[in-house]
Amino acid sequence: MDTTSEEPSGISRRALLTGALGAAGALVLVGSSTFTAAPAARAAARPNIIPCATWGASPARGTISMSSTPRNIVVHHMASSNGTGTDLDAAYSIARQVQGWHFDNGWIDTGQHFSVSRGGYVLEGRHRTIEGLDTGGVFPIGSHVANNNSTSLGIETEGDFTSIQPTSAQWESLVALIAFLCTRYGLSVNAIKGHRDFNSTECPGNAFYPRLQELRNAVAARIDGGGEEPPPTTGQPWPTLNQGASGFRVTALQRLLRHNGRSLGVDGSFGPETLAQVRAFQQSSGLVVDGSVGPITWGALAPTLNEGASSLAVAALQGLLNNRGHSLAVDESFGPATLSAVRSFQQSNALVVDGSVGPITWSHLLRA
Ligand SMILES: [Zn+2]
Repeated sequence: MDTTSEEPSGISRRALLTGALGAAGALVLVGSSTFTAAPAARAAARPNIIPCATWGASPARGTISMSSTPRNIVVHHMASSNGTGTDLDAAYSIARQVQGWHFDNGWIDTGQHFSVSRGGYVLEGRHRTIEGLDTGGVFPIGSHVANNNSTSLGIETEGDFTSIQPTSAQWESLVALIAFLCTRYGLSVNAIKGHRDFNSTECPGNAFYPRLQELRNAVAARIDGGGEEPPPTTGQPWPTLNQGASGFRVTALQRLLRHNGRSLGVDGSFGPETLAQVRAFQQSSGLVVDGSVGPITWGALAPTLNEGASSLAVAALQGLLNNRGHSLAVDESFGPATLSAVRSFQQSNALVVDGSVGPITWSHLLRA
């Protein structure tokens, strides 16, 4: 956190050299099965998130609006003391303190969505965050990253990581929380950003910021094969495809691979050629190379499309819409007919009807 999060901040802090990286976050690869059923994607388990009411949050001082356009998961440090305790009481205490600081800024509530204490406890920050997780696809608009609050989830990590690292408990909790958020909101690990990627600030600290790629890798491993349990609810929208699958999802996959520069035929059958191209795509995108197309890989393959777009990704979209009963020409051109079909699909699936095809619309189109 820096307390100027609603405006770009110009905090200048000594630039300290980054320490050596720890060994956390080792990649774990698990061989993929030939399972092809649609909605049962592997996903990170939901971590325990302590609600506002439990840690003693004060009521919000204004109306909290919800957003349905999650694009980024922004990691912060609180720039707070590294010397506080690691027990639950300490976690509650820092959460209440942060809310007080943010009220002092004139904000209506805690700025960020989640706080991760030095003991690794995950707490709800802004009210309605847990409600958004339960609803699916939405989150309260916070105050943590200027000009990007309506598209960004925010995580404050307790401590000051200018010259030291988060605790190992914090690292583990960040990996678990972010893996869950990526699957819950249909985001790729490329959505994981540091505050300084958006605003003029040192946040999340010169020691921690260089580890964000390590964090992305650890999250990817957790989601695409890290051995977590399958999701307990129906909230996980992205299907997982493996070799042996066939049908309209594979057709969409092949078109999206072609859109991303891979060379292969479009025959709706996930054979060795498609497997090789999936692996090549994962390799070139810095993802876990397991040949399994789960939430992370889909998220990296599927661009956000709007009217006027013209690409092979539009052909993938048109094929998916035709699978839903539309009769579009698969002409790679996002014109009025495609726009109308997108809006109709969004309407009938209770999505935000904006005609823009982002992760939520893509993932719903790919569902059974
Ligand atoms: Zn920050």
